[in-house]
Parts: sequence; C-alpha cells; structure tokens
Amino acid sequence: MKRYKFIANPIAGGGKAKALIPKVEKYFRDAGAEFDIYWTKKAGDGIEAAYKAANEGFDFIVAAGGDGTVNEVLNGIVGTKSILGAIHAGKGNDFATAVNMPPDIELSCMALIKGKTRAIDLGKVLDRYFINTVGVGFDAAVALRVNRGVRPFKGVSAYIYAFLETLMSYQVVEMEIEMGNSTLKLTPLLVAVGIGQAYGGGMKIVPDAIQDDGLFDVCVFNVMNKLSLVYHFPKVFSGKLKNIEQAAMYRTPEIKLNLSETRPLHMEGEILFGDHMHFTIQQKGMTVITGNDN
Ligand SMILES: [Mg+2]
Repeated sequence: MKRYKFIANPIAGGGKAKALIPKVEKYFRDAGAEFDIYWTKKAGDGIEAAYKAANEGFDFIVAAGGDGTVNEVLNGIVGTKSILGAIHAGKGNDFATAVNMPPDIELSCMALIKGKTRAIDLGKVLDRYFINTVGVGFDAAVALRVNRGVRPFKGVSAYIYAFLETLMSYQVVEMEIEMGNSTLKLTPLLVAVGIGQAYGGGMKIVPDAIQDDGLFDVCVFNVMNKLSLVYHFPKVFSGKLKNIEQAAMYRTPEIKLNLSETRPLHMEGEILFGDHMHFTIQQKGMTVITGNDN
C-alpha cells in the first residue's frame, strides 16, 4: 500500500492548513489509506522533515501549505524516490494550480489517493531547487517587502501596498542576461524564469510555459513609467502581459543573470540573494501527483 506523508505548515495562508488537515485525516482514514502528518515548526523545517520522510520510504510527500511549503518539500526530496504532492493550503497555491490539483479539499484528497503522476522539469538556481516560477528584480523586491510584513495590511491589500511602496522606491539594476549564444545588457524592471506559468497567487508572468519541455520560459520586463506600470501590470493576472511591447518572452534551457549588485530573488515563497544567478534545468527531473486534467 502507498504511504503518504503530509508536511503541513500551521501558519500558511493564515492557518488554512490547520482548518483543512482534519478533513484530510477523515478522508484518508475513511479511504483506509496509510498516512502521517508532520507540522512544521519554523521556516526551513519542511526540508528536513520531507528528507526524513523520503528516507523512511514514504511514497508521496504532500505539501499542505502554500508555495513556500511546496518548495521546502521539493528541496527535501530531490534525488529520492518520493513523489511530490500539494494541496491548496496557502496564500499562493501556484504549484497546486499548475499541476491541476482542485482547490476543493475533498476532490484534492480524491486526486491524492488516485495518485496519478507525471514527471515535470526541475530548475535550480543559487543552490536551491524550484519547480514553478522565480523572479528577480521588482517582483522580488515586492515579495521581500510582503515577507517582512506591511502591518496592518494582510493578504491582497498587503501585496498592493507593497507593490505601490516598492514602485516609489525601486532602483533598477544593470544585468547581463546570457541565454545560449546571446547576451543582453539591460536594466530591466524584472526577469521571471518559469517552468510553470504563474507566481504570486495567479500572476501569469510566463503564460505559455510548458512544464516538461526541458526549457525555461523567461520574461524580461523592461522599465516603463510608473503610471504605465500601474495600468499594465494587472494584465499579468489574465496572461495578457505578452501583448505589451516591454515584456519580451524567451525560451532557453539555461540562463545566467549577472547583476551589477546583489539583489533578492523570489523563489516560491523563499527569498534568496545573489549577483550571479545561474539557472539550470533537469528535464522531467521531478515526479509529481497531478489532478485529473493533465
Ligand atoms: Mg518549460
């Protein structure tokens, strides 16, 4: 019988996992499935717990949190035989969405038990693995601000506040962007690198990304004036960003960003810092549980 380990983050999504896990327990018990739950205690804890669970032979390691929890579980199980799963239990659930897990908890339990899998690409940068989408520049600065807290704002209002505040203060940085034989020298607003299409809770920054083609989809978003940015940026939610001339899209198996100074990189809820960022991809490097439609 397949064994499931849930790595649950009690503070993800303002306690969403805490509310959902009892329903998961009931569903799995009723289904006669073998499972165990680990509650994370601090940031980074999920990596260790997932690694341990993989070594204990759990077949499926399921992140019950947001994209940050998924990223920790991923980094814990890379190189093991365990399969990555995720439920919608955080603020941003872009990975769960990307692998067609239904937002409804009972339907997603059904998908977990069914255990349909597929292999998708695995990315790596700054010594950390990612499986969905990473951003460098303005978007990372917004994420960093949200992570540090913008009290009394929470959720979407915190994001909007951080967006506007970052917009006022953000200084672009010069970058050399190496893809294959070409090198661009730019001072873009942001560079997003994706296996999946969206980050930040549904922002389709690379709307045509294919998860298993062995290529990153890259969006190089050039600077525009602040008013235009406020007007155009919401298009990222509808996947219409590519229609803007300032957003150039590329496909490449490898990309290097050489920045003139250290800046944050936003990776699935995690903030890393660097000035030389070398992105590599391992085609179909991670097996994941998928929902019913793909
Ligand atoms: Mg791709």
